[in-house]
Order: sequence, then structure tokens, then C-alpha cells
Amino acid sequence: MDTERKVAAEKEIREWCVALPKVELHAHLNGSVRNSTLLSVLSTIPHLSPLISVVIVLSGLLVLDFPAELAKQLGDRGVIVFEDVKDVIMKADGRSLPECFKLFDLFHMLTTDHDTVTRIAKEVVEDFAAENVVYLEIRTTPKKNAAKGMTKRSYVDAVIRGLKAVESVDVLFDSNLTTSEPLSCTPMTELDNDTRKKKIYVRLLLSIDRRETTSAALDTVNLAMEMKDQGVIGIDLSGNPVVGEWETYLPALQHAKELGIPITIHCGEVPNRKEIQAVLDFCPQRLGHVCCLNDDEWKQLKSLKIPIEICLTSNVMTGGAPSLELHHFADLYNARHPLSLCTDDSGLFSTSLSNEYYLVAATFGLSKSELFQLAQDAVHFVFADDDVKSSLRRMLKIAEKRLMP
Ligand SMILES: [Zn+2]
Repeated sequence: MDTERKVAAEKEIREWCVALPKVELHAHLNGSVRNSTLLSVLSTIPHLSPLISVVIVLSGLLVLDFPAELAKQLGDRGVIVFEDVKDVIMKADGRSLPECFKLFDLFHMLTTDHDTVTRIAKEVVEDFAAENVVYLEIRTTPKKNAAKGMTKRSYVDAVIRGLKAVESVDVLFDSNLTTSEPLSCTPMTELDNDTRKKKIYVRLLLSIDRRETTSAALDTVNLAMEMKDQGVIGIDLSGNPVVGEWETYLPALQHAKELGIPITIHCGEVPNRKEIQAVLDFCPQRLGHVCCLNDDEWKQLKSLKIPIEICLTSNVMTGGAPSLELHHFADLYNARHPLSLCTDDSGLFSTSLSNEYYLVAATFGLSKSELFQLAQDAVHFVFADDDVKSSLRRMLKIAEKRLMP
């Protein structure tokens, strides 16, 4: 009987977390790809299609098998070392951070044509909207691919086409009020009314990949400026944390700061003391992860009150945090540090934003009203303008009556 009650209580809080209108601030486009889409795109690669039969899905994690010959063939083209990827994908539980970056390489390799980018962007928005994410900042690294006629600009255009293609939900994505409805006048009552479509605000952050040169990073910042009226509202620094030097990206980040473009930075994924200090001194608008800070750096972070994008599942799976129970969420939450729950890579880590809220409740014992407060607080940290923030606050106010009787 006790077990039955426990199961029922877990189901109830999980459903409540799905119903909660949520704000997602740290979601990589490529890492949020549906497993089914990943397989479908893989099947379009000529040499790979006969091999899809060896695909197995175990516990939500993809398990693929690549024969040595194909691995060598594709690996020799300098795209990716498939033997490495195979080993990583075959893992049924936790992958290390370097292993995850091998998978990212695979995802990036699959998103090198415009149509695929458009499809993935559309589906990612649909998936977040389906679990009541009402504001979504998607981050992605604009890519060049001369063979496919892809420029950084055309890549971002392809992402935007994906946002426009969503039909299951109204997507409010640009900031120049070209939608039929002004952003400042969106009542959002539709959340209580199933007969009307839901709405989701979507904004784009352009990522500087740590493998890029200073010049390429500057191109990305200039592109963000050029596309600021088309839903691009910020810059992110991300990529394999053991690659690259802070000094390489600093001119571009400084340029973004001068242009007034909000910045978020992946910080402390590895214990790189020099870079963590430089990032804290740079003082961006938000930080992601902050896993490997020492006592002095924690002290500085807390005094700066830089909002943190907390990615519980991601940090545990990549070893940035030893376990959910020992995750630094608890320390930051108890210190009332500004923070927001995020997924990082919902596809890669088989999670969702609703699941991240559930994990906080299950692991740290937060009540529904505390979870609701977390969702409300996240609105403060969005990069969108005050009109959008006001609209999100109204939306949460309406939901409060339903969720917090
Ligand atoms: Zn990330």
C-alpha cells in the first residue's frame, strides 16, 4: 500500500511539473534533437542506411553499431572518429564530458544542410512547447559548409524557418513586432482554454564554439547584431572546455558587450582556474554550469550574483557533479543565489525541463510553491525585453490559480 501511494505521489508531482509553465534558458539545438530524428537523419547518409537495422534503443539511450570499415571511411574524411563515437554511444549509463563531446561531433556532422537544421529547429520547439515551456532560448553555433552552400547567416535563417514552420503552437520569435499580435498585448489566457492554441516565446542565442578563431567568433557576434530584429538576442560561449584559450574569444565577447548584446558563458565545466577567474572578472549576464569552482571563486560568484543556468542531469551524467544529492544546486539555492533550471541537451541526456523540476523536488524536497517560485524567478533572467517578461509573469499568474489552489 505504501509503495502504491509512493508511485501515485510521484506520478502526481511529475504531472504537476509538466503542467507548470516553464522558462528554458540553456538548450543547445543540436543536443535537443529527438532520437527518432537522429536515426532518420542517419538513415539518409548513403553508406549508413543499410546499417540502421543494428540500431537498438536501450533505456532511452541510443545504441548504434558502426562497422570498422565505415568508421574508418568517414573518420578518414576528418569529420569524426567513428570508432570513438561507437564506444560512447554503446554506453548504457553515464558518459564522461569528453565522451559527450564525441557525440556532439556526430550531431554537428548530421546538421550540415539547411533542411535538416530547419527540421530540427521545428521539432525542438514543438517538444519544448508540448511540455509547457512558454519561453525558450535556443542556442546554436552558426556553421559554414561551403559544399552545401551554407554560410553562418543562411544557417541561422534555416533555424528561423524551422520556428516559422511550427503549427501545433503559436511561436512568437521575433522582436520587431511583425507578428500579427503585438508581444506586449498577449493575454495568454489560452493556457486555461484548450480550445485555443498555446504560445511559446522563442529566442536565439548564437554560440561561439571554443574551436573557433577570434575572427570567426567576431563574425558570430556581428551576425547576432545584424539579426537582432529576427529573434537573435544573445551570445553564448560553449564547446569542449578542454579546447581553446579564453584570450581567443575575449575580443568577440568584449565586442558583444560594447554592442549591448547579452552574454552567457559555459563556466567551470573543468577546473581551469585561470579561465574561471577571467570569466568571473568579465561578469557576463548569465553563467552555465559552474561545476568546478573553488572556495574563493564561489565567494566571488555569490557576491557578483550572476544568474546560473543549472543543468542537473547534464552535470551528473558528465561528471561535473558527483551525484544529484551532492549537486551544487543545494548550496546556491540555500544561498538564495539567482538560478534557473535548464536541460542543456534534452536529447543527449534523455531529460526534459519538467523532469529537471521533478528531480529538484525528489532530490532536495522542494515543495510545489518553491518549484513555482523557481519558475517565476527564471523570468527575471531571460534576455528578452520587459514586454515579454510582463507577458510571462501574467501567464504564470493565471497558471498559479490552477496549480496552487
Ligand atoms: Zn551547454
